[in-house]
Order: sequence, then C-alpha cells, then structure tokens
Amino acid sequence: MTNWTALATDLAAEFAERAAEIDRTGRFPVENLERLRETGYLTIAVPAEFGGGGADLATVAECQRILAGGCASTALAANMHVFGLGSAAESWAAGDPATEPIFRLAAGGTIVGGSLTDAATGLNVRTSSTPAKRTDGGYVISGRKSFCSLAPVLGFFWGTAADTETGELLLFGLRRDAPGLDFVDTWDTMAMRGTGSWDVKFDDVFVPDAAVQRGRKPSDPAVWDEVQERGFAWFAFTVASIYLGVARAAARFAYDYVTNRTVTGASLPMARQPAQVFNASRIELLLRPAEALVSDGLRRRAAGEVLAPADLNTLKYVAVNAADEAVDQCVRMVGGHGIFRKLPLERFYRDVRAGQFHPPNNDVALETIGKSALGIDPLAEPRWPTD
Ligand SMILES: Cc1cc2nc3c(=O)[nH]c(=O)nc-3n(C[C@H](O)[C@H](O)[C@H](O)COP(=O)(O)OP(=O)(O)OC[C@H]3O[C@@H](n4cnc5c(N)ncnc54)[C@H](O)[C@@H]3O)c2cc1C
Repeated sequence: MTNWTALATDLAAEFAERAAEIDRTGRFPVENLERLRETGYLTIAVPAEFGGGGADLATVAECQRILAGGCASTALAANMHVFGLGSAAESWAAGDPATEPIFRLAAGGTIVGGSLTDAATGLNVRTSSTPAKRTDGGYVISGRKSFCSLAPVLGFFWGTAADTETGELLLFGLRRDAPGLDFVDTWDTMAMRGTGSWDVKFDDVFVPDAAVQRGRKPSDPAVWDEVQERGFAWFAFTVASIYLGVARAAARFAYDYVTNRTVTGASLPMARQPAQVFNASRIELLLRPAEALVSDGLRRRAAGEVLAPADLNTLKYVAVNAADEAVDQCVRMVGGHGIFRKLPLERFYRDVRAGQFHPPNNDVALETIGKSALGIDPLAEPRWPTD
C-alpha cells in the first residue's frame, strides 16, 4: 500500500528543484505532472476498486499541503484533477454509479480538468453565461471559458454552460479532441504561473445528452445537501491546505534565514533579536489557528458530519487570508533580501496572493458567513434587499 504522505514529501523535494525556473518562465511543468501520473499520485482519491489509492479527504489535503511546499503551481494544477475525483469517490461510496466512467479514465492515465469560469462574466456557481443551444440529441456550445488549470495536459474537460431556452445550468464533459474545442494559452500572471490555467474556446461544440448533467433552473431554489457539500468540501479543504502549505514553506525559509544570519557587529544570529522572535510569534499565531480549523473540519467530516456553507466558507477564508498575512510577515522578517528573485520568498509572496480568488472568493465568503450568523439563509434569493 502506498504511503501517500511519504510519496508527497519525496515529490515535493523533487519539484522544489524546478519551482523557481517554472515560475520564472511561466511554463507548464509537464514533467511534474508526468511524475504525478507515473507514481500513481493522480489516482490517490480514485476508489481502490478502480485501481486507485482510495485515500480520504484528510489524507489528500495533507498531501496537497506537502506538495505545495515544493511547487505551489504543480499542487494547485493537480488539485483541479484530484479534488473532483475525491468528491466523485465519496458519491460513489454513497451509491452513485454515475461516477464510474471518470474513475476508469483517471485510472487509465487521463488527466481531468475543467472551468466553471466564463471568460466574459467571471465565476458564478449558480449560473453560466456560456450558451448551450438545444439540438437533436444534445447541445451545441459556443463561447469562451477561462482559468482552466491543467489545460496543456488534460485529456478530459468538464465545464458549465446554460441552456439558452430554460436557463438551466448544465455540467458537461468532453474529450480534449472534441471537434470545435480549443485551448488557448492566455496564462501570463503574477502568481501560480505554472498552473497552465488557459482559456477554453468552444466553436459550435456538440455535447451529447449522455455527457450532460442538468442542474438547477434560475427559478429553482438553491439547495444544500450532501452532494453539494461533497464537491465544495473537497475543494475548500484542499485549496486551504495548499495555501497553508505555501505559507509554511515561507515560514521555514524565513526562520532558517534569521537563524543562519548574523549581522556585522552582532554576537548572535538575527533570530535572537526581540523583533524576530515576535515576528515568528505573529506568523505562528496566524498559521496555527488556521491549521487547527482545517484539522477540526476534517475530523468533523470524517465523523460523518455534513458541513454547512458557513463552515466551509470560514475555513477557506481563514486559511487563505492567514497564509497571505503570514507570508507578508515572513518578508518583513527577512527584510530587503526577501525581494530578491534568487530567493524563493518573493515567489511564495506572489503565489499565496491567488488563494483569495478561488471560490468562495473573500467577498462571497463574507456574505455567506455574515448571513449565517444573522440567521439569514445564504442561498436564498434575492440575495439583497432592493429598497
Ligand atoms: C491560479 C488559479 C487557478 C484557477 N484554476 C481554475 C480552474 O481550473 N477552473 C476554474 O473553473 N476556475 C479556476 N480558477 C478561477 C477562479 O475559480 C475564479 O473563477 C476566477 O478567479 C474568477 O473569479 P473572480 O471572483 O476572481 O472574478 P470575478 O467573478 O470577475 O469577480 C471579480 C470580483 O467581484 C466580486 N464578486 C464577484 N462575484 C461576487 C459575488 N457573487 N458576491 C460578491 N462579490 C462578488 C469579488 O470581489 C471578485 O473578486 C483559478 C483561479 C486562479 C487564481
């Protein structure tokens, strides 16, 4: 049986060697994804019955945290494949056989990625501005989606569109070579530069009914059930863990730096200065509560609890924002040398900024958490008073 955390630790060390160059060039780390594939890491969450690792969310989140400490881009890109399979595996264990084809694809080495984000209108999990026109036996989709991590290597794409007649949200899947489907390299960013989160173009792409899962119509009330929770939980816990992994890597670097640096005229290393001791304390006081919140949520889920939207929003918000602030503090700790590109800290500083943008973004999280605290259903429409 694979020791997943040991494998993640080895891979993180290997990927750390290439992380600076991948960031500098902005290229997609094809060889890292190949290593993840050949070591079986990409099937970590696939049920054992389909040849996968059958790992639970706590194990996957921990491995993703470790991997992110080596190369954040690789961990985040791989996450778009891993989290969906993990949530599908929980659905399968709960008796949903519809997920089986995706396990077979993944077990056969196919990389799965997708985009919920419409290029023109951004991300809204309740609807999509990508039009899907009804036709014989399926839909024809035209338009453009964005932020599709893993685009350079994925073999199977999933995304959202809206039925032009009913407004129904559709979740659909396509093979990479589907006629009219194209991936466009638009990814030149300040953070997570190696995730290959390209645009996806649809030029009259036919999607058969069998490849479409219908969601809610705009008039349907939003529901929160085990299925919704599964997808969201796998995403929130793994993303939170990735950004905490980046922050821990930054903290390790900063602690080593001040421990090993003695400025001219001083008898002891910088780490002995009160300012640095208090800096380290501030970093720990940001990261430890966030890590504890993630661990607590994982424990509650493992005990069978279906977490509420406010729980998942809270842990994701706390984790990515604590990670952000902690890395700021690490830069202050190291001082001016921290902005040199020859050191990894400025890369951690840029990468960690991206955490706030993953769903739920900070504003959506504040809305959900605040409404829940006030006894207002965060899913109810209209979201805000009109008078
Ligand atoms: C590194 C990286 C990789 C990614 N990979 C993927 C991927 O593989 N697949 C994928 O689907 N997506 C991916 N995303 C995209 C991400 O999920 C978001 O869709 C993307 O960042 C765009 O959403 P946004 O909220 O930032 O922008 P917009 O939707 O344009 O929103 C802009 C701003 O408006 C405000 N806002 C928007 N909507 C609301 C609202 N409902 N309530 C309150 N305020 C709101 C927020 O302040 C938000 O920051 C990735 C993002 C990053 C950074």
